[in-house]
Amino acid sequence: MGRKFVRAIFPGSFDPITNGHLDVINRAMKLFDELIIAVGRSPVKNQLFTPEERVEMIAELIAELTADMSGVSVEAFEGLTVEYAAQKKADVILRGLRSLTDVQYEFQLAMTNRSVAGIETVFVMTSEQYGFTSSTLIREVASLGGNISHLIPKSIYNRLQERFKKLKKQE
Ligand code: ADP
Repeated sequence: MGRKFVRAIFPGSFDPITNGHLDVINRAMKLFDELIIAVGRSPVKNQLFTPEERVEMIAELIAELTADMSGVSVEAFEGLTVEYAAQKKADVILRGLRSLTDVQYEFQLAMTNRSVAGIETVFVMTSEQYGFTSSTLIREVASLGGNISHLIPKSIYNRLQERFKKLKKQE
């Protein structure tokens, strides 16, 4: 019997993308034939980069890592994740897990998406070294000048530095 082609979407804020997200993406590429990184607007999180900027930053990274990133693409989306998933004919939603604390929220989200649209969520656990990495903390530490260069790609580090320099000038 032939294997089914599996398309996944990886929805998130990615403000900015971190090595933790990339770790999940690398692992997921071994499981899925196609992966669409879907940059959404989070209604509850303060944004540092616009969705368009985030898409551009991720697209640059994918282009840099092209040899191993075939089958991966990035887009922005608005509205319900499950509607976007249906529009893209995605088979599954991919989410990353860092710790047990993530599980409670992610479990609720996955159950809701399944009951609303019948779509399954697949979870991939990150490497232990990124178990504490979150975009929110990266933004906070970077804004105060802390060294987070080992937790994000170099190009993202440079974009963060530029953004905070610009914001400081405006103060
Ligand atoms: P959202 O606002 O949708 O939670 P995030 O960009 O914060 O968007 O996260 C997107 C997904 O990536 C979520 O499933 C989140 O749990 C996961 N994630 C975030 N940081 C990490 C990390 N360091 N390791 C593994 N998964 C992560």
